[in-house]
Amino acid sequence: MKRRLFQVALIIFLFPFISFKTSSAETLPSAQIIVDGEEIETTYTLQNGRLMVPDLFFKNTGATVNFNEMYQSIAVDRGNIAAFPIGRTYTDYYDQNERKWKRDYLKTTTTKINGTPYIPLRITAEILGMDVSYDPMLKRTFIRTHATTEAPKAYGSIPTTTKQIALTFDDGPDDVITPQILNILDEKDVQATFFVLGKQVKRFPQMTKNITNAGHTIANHSFGHPDLSNLYTSNVREQVLSANSTIEEVTGTRPSLFRPPYGSFTRADAQVFKDLGFLNILWSIDTLDWSGKTADEIVGTITSQASPGSIVLQHSFDSSELEGTLDALPRIIDRLREKGYEFVTVDAIPSS
Ligand SMILES: [Zn+2]
Repeated sequence: MKRRLFQVALIIFLFPFISFKTSSAETLPSAQIIVDGEEIETTYTLQNGRLMVPDLFFKNTGATVNFNEMYQSIAVDRGNIAAFPIGRTYTDYYDQNERKWKRDYLKTTTTKINGTPYIPLRITAEILGMDVSYDPMLKRTFIRTHATTEAPKAYGSIPTTTKQIALTFDDGPDDVITPQILNILDEKDVQATFFVLGKQVKRFPQMTKNITNAGHTIANHSFGHPDLSNLYTSNVREQVLSANSTIEEVTGTRPSLFRPPYGSFTRADAQVFKDLGFLNILWSIDTLDWSGKTADEIVGTITSQASPGSIVLQHSFDSSELEGTLDALPRIIDRLREKGYEFVTVDAIPSS
């Protein structure tokens, strides 16, 4: 009996500490770091006075970031490679000028926090040939990457001055919404662009064929719809390539347009899309149709925002929230035609 009382007392006594420890482990502070003038929000931690950031932060500088299972090591690569083995106080790096691997001992240990490896900001940037400075007045850290190539272009619209507009439908195909969209487009004789998911193409191969057979453009929206900015570079490639090969197997068509899920990507991801031969396609009119907008709201959004080259974002997955999309579609087409618009697919962008 006494023992139990003691246990209860112990639990009550420890409880505030336990809960405090849990919440502090989950919430790290965050800050904006300026990379070539662009603000990048990141969590960080300080270790022995050194600023540590998530390994994937470096994708924002254009460096690829990968995890090597065999060596349990993170590799950050931008010509020069910096490797950070988990739990170690050193970095191995490849010096391109001397063409050999070197080892630097650090004042920090590469550590996983909430499952994410944190690596030292300054030494990583310097190994990769970038400058880091801290402005004590602004309390901001600045990185200059000295990138020798421009960031690959992302298209929010079609570069044109004529009244062309592109309807796009994401996240399909499915067997409920997609066939109804196809019927309306067929009735109205409009061609659109479908950014499909590899996993949906696997589930609905016939519906995928119906899209291409009707003359619409099929485009790549990743295999499983992850936020690519949270993935290692090898997994980003895998998401793009597996979706493309699935689409090609089913339709015989090889997409050349890619739209990252949530429109989320880093500079390094954009380089992956480009290296794999894709144009990176975003949008200029967001209907927010997935959130259950009414047909009136969707028609209003599109007709008020339409301009030459607009790319309209809508969806085609199985959801009752998309009733508005279906009801709005014939009206959108009629209204835009009245305003003198011609419907084009996103292929209208010349691949320079
Ligand atoms: Zn999507």
